[in-house]
Amino acid sequence: MPFKDPEKYKQYQKEYRMRPENIKRKREVGIEYRSKNKEILSKKSKEKWQNRTDEQKLIDYEYGKKYRKENKDRISKQRRGFWANRPDKKVKAEKDRLKKWRKDNAEVLKTIRQIKRTVLIEMLGGKCARCGATGYLEFDHINPDEKSFLINPLYNMEKLKPELKKCQLLCYPCHMEKTKEDFLNGKIMKDPVDLMKSRDDRHEREF
Ligand SMILES: [Zn+2]
Repeated sequence: MPFKDPEKYKQYQKEYRMRPENIKRKREVGIEYRSKNKEILSKKSKEKWQNRTDEQKLIDYEYGKKYRKENKDRISKQRRGFWANRPDKKVKAEKDRLKKWRKDNAEVLKTIRQIKRTVLIEMLGGKCARCGATGYLEFDHINPDEKSFLINPLYNMEKLKPELKKCQLLCYPCHMEKTKEDFLNGKIMKDPVDLMKSRDDRHEREF
């Protein structure tokens, strides 16, 4: 040992580590190590991620939420780049993953949709604008020309609010009548029979 004083030796070690060439070297070794042990490292971190405590999950969730809020622009830019570089196959894989996620979480999503649907209906007065019925209510775009999208309770409120302002509540029979009128006035081009069919589907899904 070149130093008799252990404190001095410690100091020397610290200085040695802080030298730019050594910092660079350490970084390179790290990169090499990670690329050589990619599989085992990813397996380890995956296990660690899956075995988190509920408390840790909550912390991670809150952190993620905060991070996404603070880095909105960066994330959307990254995401655009991600999609731009993906060939069709990978895009399909992403879509499938999303589909699977929706399927796995169908029950939760259904509950959220039902709760939010009730809130949206209350916001519009809770009854049919024509006959006052309170059952089988649907969202109707008063002027179909102004329609940007169908009211899907799963969208966030920020997106829904301006669209909801263009809507009224109609019960199922009144909505059919209104759709027929819109068609006869040339406001909608789609055959009412097709529309009725898709509305039946929606009704079943409690959409
Ligand atoms: Zn009605």
